[in-house]
Amino acid sequence: MIGYLDAVLLLLVMATVVFVAAIWRHYSARGVREQYGIPEGELLYSDLGEPGEALFSEKYRISGKPDYVLRDEMTGAYIPVEVKSGRAKKPYWNHILQLGAYCLLVEERYGTSVPYGILVYGDGRQHRIDFTDTIRSQVLSTVEEMRRCIKDGTVRRNHTAPVRCVNCAYLAECIYALEGD
Ligand code: SF4
Repeated sequence: MIGYLDAVLLLLVMATVVFVAAIWRHYSARGVREQYGIPEGELLYSDLGEPGEALFSEKYRISGKPDYVLRDEMTGAYIPVEVKSGRAKKPYWNHILQLGAYCLLVEERYGTSVPYGILVYGDGRQHRIDFTDTIRSQVLSTVEEMRRCIKDGTVRRNHTAPVRCVNCAYLAECIYALEGD
């Protein structure tokens, strides 16, 4: 049978473990943040350092995991941040759409409007992408088109680069995957 002192000791050990884990998470996220030059702001969510829980939209039936969600220090707005390892002078359109989808998810998750998101590329360039009505409707029409393609079986690969398949999360299931050299 466990005694009173043992129980107190156990509780103290558990509290210490939880505290140390929280500190480790904080500094792990901060290290990645500094590595990628993520702007300052309260960190509400992170999928870098260690995996975060996927955000899900009941309204649009989409889900996804932005790399970060920050609270803008000046305005208090909730801002999704997506980090890309490649370099780009200008943000790619597919990255803008992905960020737009995250804006929708953050809106629903936190019950707030999202004015913009941030794309960070491997060369340290940051691009603030305003979440305009145009981007919102482009995201939704793209989601609809993806659903239609899946339903009528007209999905096709849109590239010829095996390296993209090697690193793809859908490699095991994809019938269009290219083999590497
Ligand atoms: S494995 Fe399939 S889904 Fe992934 S990049 Fe290759 S073709 Fe696209």
